[in-house]
Amino acid sequence: MTRLSSSGRIEVICGCMYSGKTEELIRRIRQVQIARQPFRIFTPKLDTRYGRNQVASHAGTWLEAQPISSINEILPQVDDAQVVAIDELHFLEDSPETILAGCQQLADYGLRVLVSGLDQNYRAEPFMALALVSAVAEQVDKLYAICVRCGAYGTRSQRLIDNKPAPADAPTIVVGGLELYEARCRACYEPAR
Ligand code: ADP
Ligand code: ZN
Repeated sequence: MTRLSSSGRIEVICGCMYSGKTEELIRRIRQVQIARQPFRIFTPKLDTRYGRNQVASHAGTWLEAQPISSINEILPQVDDAQVVAIDELHFLEDSPETILAGCQQLADYGLRVLVSGLDQNYRAEPFMALALVSAVAEQVDKLYAICVRCGAYGTRSQRLIDNKPAPADAPTIVVGGLELYEARCRACYEPAR
């Protein structure tokens, strides 16, 4: 654990569902490939929507990834990598503080750390892991989707059950796609009750 170099940095890609976070993560990794820099991609084990060993965007692009439960599984597997990417950071099973410390440790080690994740849960509350890591990151890009109701910029993930807002006491993490979540703007978002 001594590889300190000036290239260590954290880049956060955040936003609501369908805002293009995974597409942007894949775009940055493609550039890393073009630069011929060794990299590793990790994905939380919880996110099994598209099969386990890949990060996949809603637009259909994908890259192979290593499933992990904890941020602390990354450092022992880094080998010669210069870049590590973690998709859907909010799905890791660690506490937000552990995720913050883990990202800091990887960047302090000299790695370029690319992370993507939801900035807010379905109740439109902050996902603390993303909030904490964004505070210390060198670069934060917040993306927006398109509100399916009105066509404005969508910034919130609406969870629906039988076309009604999911109740406020439902679990925070429920993995799903278009059948369960819609992108909505602030005005069209219906609060969970
Ligand atoms: P995220 O990782 O933020 O959930 P993805 O990168 O997986 O987003 O997918 C982004 C893609 O989702 C867009 O390029 C578009 O093809 C598709 N998409 C589906 N619904 C929407 C929407 N409401 N607004 C914007 N893009 C959408
Ligand atoms: Zn709207």
